[in-house]
Amino acid sequence: MKKVLIANDNQKILSLLKIEIEKHDDIEPYFAKSYKEAVDIILKHQGKFHGALLDIDLHDAKDEEIVKLANFYNIPSIIMTDIDNLETQNTLIKNDVINIISKNDHSDLVCAVNEMSRTLKNYDTTILIVDDSVIYRKILKDSLKKIKLKILEASDGVEALKILQSNKNISLILTDYDMPNMNGLELTFRLRKQYKKDQLGIIAISVVEEQNVISKFLKIGVNDFINKKFTHNEIVTRINSNLELLDLFGQIKDMANKDFLTGAYNRRFFFDTGKYVYEKSKRSKTSLAVAMIDIDKFKNINDRYGHNTGDIAIQEAKRILDNNLRESDLMARFGGEEFCVLLEDITYENVKLLFDKIKYKFQHNIIKTNQYTITYTVSIGICFGLADSLEDMIRLSDEALYIAKESGRNRVEINPNSSNPI
Ligand code: GH3
Ligand code: MG
Ligand code: MG
Repeated sequence: MKKVLIANDNQKILSLLKIEIEKHDDIEPYFAKSYKEAVDIILKHQGKFHGALLDIDLHDAKDEEIVKLANFYNIPSIIMTDIDNLETQNTLIKNDVINIISKNDHSDLVCAVNEMSRTLKNYDTTILIVDDSVIYRKILKDSLKKIKLKILEASDGVEALKILQSNKNISLILTDYDMPNMNGLELTFRLRKQYKKDQLGIIAISVVEEQNVISKFLKIGVNDFINKKFTHNEIVTRINSNLELLDLFGQIKDMANKDFLTGAYNRRFFFDTGKYVYEKSKRSKTSLAVAMIDIDKFKNINDRYGHNTGDIAIQEAKRILDNNLRESDLMARFGGEEFCVLLEDITYENVKLLFDKIKYKFQHNIIKTNQYTITYTVSIGICFGLADSLEDMIRLSDEALYIAKESGRNRVEINPNSSNPI
């Protein structure tokens, strides 16, 4: 949650803003009905706000006083005003201002809140500007800094590809068309071989006279096209709306691939991704490990403490596994209280060490809820080597799990039927 100051002396607008803000769980709002209240709130929090939605005319302050106040504390603001005057708007935008929005009707308020919410997400969003013109890069950067994006720069397609290789967290690329070494079309063409539209956004920015260039860009697969003669309002709105769309794609993917309770990958994702890992190991004749982890006597936890506490125990299992596995290990929630892990590049000895450690971590973990203190153990069944299929490896690890349960639980068993360690 990020702190946002909302200053407005119109009670009706304030109520409408409250309703809109409640729809965004990333905003922690602080409401001020006057300039004086805004000052008090800012001082109380030592100016530590991520954003502000400011009505430019408050009854107890002169014009723009509130903008200067937010600017003094480096609080990026969305200004709500009736002033259409472009000159005044241009003066205002020189401050730490995200955008200027008119406050004519309800839809303006919705837009202002949406834009604020997007800006808060932008603090953790990286984009790459690709243009050989230093001046254009600066113009773009000046606008995009206002919406708090992290910005990287490249002067042509070749440099862009290099930067992309070492920065895996770039969400969006803005590319010019005409550049030396590699132009924007070639760059887009190469990127689209590797990344789909939902994995990496690309926006082409070029002069609109080059009509055939625009259609080429669109055919090759850019997400959007922006005319180089953009205004601040246009560029930030377009870029924010493209970033929203990319986030939405991500949410849909998560819904399909992840389990709602724990956020762990689901069974389907495990098989979709796991089959490539298995094929790779088969080609290179290297060993894999599949581990099945199941909470012991979990029914007792549900029966004794209730289903909600049971849910917390399952979420905790995901946390412990996350903390002890490597980034490259594929972990999924397979069923109720059962998790499956696929590990590559690991030796028999290290598999044993790792899962003994994980078993120990579970045994000594104490979960404190509001009402109860609970502990539980897990049993782990492992298949190491390379069986005839991923499904076979899972079946063998399941057998080992059964033996671990039968032998008294809180145990790690490696299936003696597993293929010989390679
Ligand atoms: P064992 O040691 O043999 O594994 O015993 P167990 O009680 O853990 O295993 P069993 O398979 O008999 O019971 C699993 C229970 O997990 C049954 C089911 O009600 C519960 N369960 C499944 N999914 C969820 C869930 O999402 N939340 C909660 N709270 N319970 C769940
Ligand atoms: Mg150029
Ligand atoms: Mg169980």
